[in-house]
Amino acid sequence: MSMSMGKSGRVSGRTVLITGGARGMGEAHARLLVAEGARVVVGDILEEEGRALAKELGPDAALFQPLDVTSEAAWQQAVSAAEEAFGPVSGLVNNAGIVHVGPIAELSEADYRKVVDVNQVGVFLGMKSVLPSMRRAGGGSIVNISSVGGIIAFSGIVGYTAAKWAVRGMTKTAAQEFGRYGIRVNSVHPGMVATPMTADAPGTEGAVAHLPIPRQARPEELATMVLFLLSDESSYCTGGEFTVDGGYTTF
Ligand code: NAD
Repeated sequence: MSMSMGKSGRVSGRTVLITGGARGMGEAHARLLVAEGARVVVGDILEEEGRALAKELGPDAALFQPLDVTSEAAWQQAVSAAEEAFGPVSGLVNNAGIVHVGPIAELSEADYRKVVDVNQVGVFLGMKSVLPSMRRAGGGSIVNISSVGGIIAFSGIVGYTAAKWAVRGMTKTAAQEFGRYGIRVNSVHPGMVATPMTADAPGTEGAVAHLPIPRQARPEELATMVLFLLSDESSYCTGGEFTVDGGYTTF
């Protein structure tokens, strides 16, 4: 899947679609993948931030595409735009996510469904929508961003844990279905990461003080895992769950 055009790097010649790529971890993934030779399509509902990032990375390396991951029509447009700009999609990072805090007793059905819609249904639509393009590419790699909340429980965010546990299972199912096309599918489980999502969350410092690595992760420390899973260095990894959590799930 390598092409002679573009910079030489660990993912040279790949066209990678990153959802939620405008800020936070998605932005870190976009920056590192471009530095390693990929062409990235930043899909997000945050147009201003997404366009600014794509502009900074340059038109040969990055494209911003408005994408609400809950819309199948928007997914089809995003895959078409990616193919048109950079060729068939050989990498997908399902990174877009939201969190809604509230105990089960007080959580509305609408708020529960909204989190599941973005964090779970969005991943389903993404994997389904890129499949034809990845087959045209001759194979590829899908990285689904789950969470340590997809392995253990967190009280107060039931929609989030429901969706993130689902993503772990969906990843393994997709790995079984897509293997025959040379497409690998893995999930990544970040612990506490310093991004806009956690910036306003109460108790973040206390949540990491007891960890073997007693601090939050920097987004770049997740990007290196995503890079590994998109590159051929992980050629025998599929259906796996990769924690990057400072030891969060050891307890
Ligand atoms: P973030 O809020 O900084 O970034 C999330 C991005 O997703 C934003 O750019 C947002 O606009 C985008 N997004 C939201 N809804 C969308 C939609 N419907 N369609 C398209 N884009 C949408 O958060 P982050 O911390 O960078 O999170 C990235 C991923 O990592 C999420 O899936 C999150 O659940 C997961 N995660 C985060 C942490 C953490 O501590 N920050 C820990 C574990 C997992």
